[in-house]
Amino acid sequence: MTAYLCPRCKTNRSRFNKLEQKVTSIKMDPESGEVMSIMGEGEMDPFHMEYRGPDYRIQCATCGEIADEETFIQFARSHPRGS
Ligand SMILES: [Zn+2]
Repeated sequence: MTAYLCPRCKTNRSRFNKLEQKVTSIKMDPESGEVMSIMGEGEMDPFHMEYRGPDYRIQCATCGEIADEETFIQFARSHPRGS
């Protein structure tokens, strides 16, 4: 179990939205913005970097702050309840 605390409003420890990062890799026409192709895993061209971010992010359901889970965990650790 890992507690969260929002680093922005500094009060919310219990209401959060978990945002799953669903990655779709696309190649666009640079002029029109039209999607030329949608690439699956292992189909990237050599110049296309695969997504390397976290699997999900966290939103504070009190103030709307969105950050990596680690940010909420670290803030909870450095601000224990009742201190
Ligand atoms: Zn907040």
